[in-house]
Amino acid sequence: MSKLKVAELFYSIQGEGRYMGVPSIFLRTFGCNFKCQGFGMPRGELSNEVEVIAERIADFKTYEELPLVSTGCDSYASWDPRFKHLSPMLDTSAVADAICDILPHKTWKDEHLVITGGEPLLGWQRAYPDLLGHPKMAGLKEITFETNGTQELSEEFIEYLVQWQMPNVDFDREITFSVSAKLPCSGEKWEDAIKPEIVCRYEDVGTAYLKFVIATEQDYADAECAIAAYRSAGFKGHVYLMPVGGVESVYALNNRRVAELAMKNGLRYSDRLQVPLFKNEWGT
Ligand code: SF4
Repeated sequence: MSKLKVAELFYSIQGEGRYMGVPSIFLRTFGCNFKCQGFGMPRGELSNEVEVIAERIADFKTYEELPLVSTGCDSYASWDPRFKHLSPMLDTSAVADAICDILPHKTWKDEHLVITGGEPLLGWQRAYPDLLGHPKMAGLKEITFETNGTQELSEEFIEYLVQWQMPNVDFDREITFSVSAKLPCSGEKWEDAIKPEIVCRYEDVGTAYLKFVIATEQDYADAECAIAAYRSAGFKGHVYLMPVGGVESVYALNNRRVAELAMKNGLRYSDRLQVPLFKNEWGT
């Protein structure tokens, strides 16, 4: 039986992208290949909010007790090794049981599953066939991987996903890759973060779209360069612009301007409904 290191598992409303507003189970896996300490900071500077929180690590026993941050990655505890003790390693059968327990009817209705992170396409790919093939997951129809778009799909995982597209399978599942490609405002290097060939491959097994976090005109100019790179590699999916803002004060400064920028450029706007609805608290 495969195992997953589970940072968070909760039921909420999907606040971003294609499934905005859809009731969803969020499975947040532990681990990421990035740190994204540049979000919300002046260009070239890195946030140290997590460093300050980590100094008080003994004060926090659960995710719900952790402070929110207004700069850097808002899900820092799902990849920073200093917080790894908050994320249990569970076998996929225990994860399937826990998912069914938090579904309001204890079985799938119209809910969608979001596998997020951290970066959920790191080594955990090998565990997903066990999880998604578990009898308790049989009624699940729609799955989104929220990825940073840098991880290749393994041949084994591709083989597993491709079967859902065969006409003779007796169930129907839709898979989506929500690719939040990291622009320089994240603090990550362009050559590490913008991987068009990898993202194009996601389109062979499901629907993929790009989602760029925007705070400034410079971010939008970077997004345009990235979009051109993805398109020239053959990427066909939709593109969303999403305002920066893991806390309401930052989100409220940006959302209308980013919506207008999306309209002006014929791109889609993604809100972050979890911020106005739930203050982006852990578990929402
Ligand atoms: S890729 Fe996502 S989870 Fe990883 S550090 Fe960046 S924002 Fe956080």
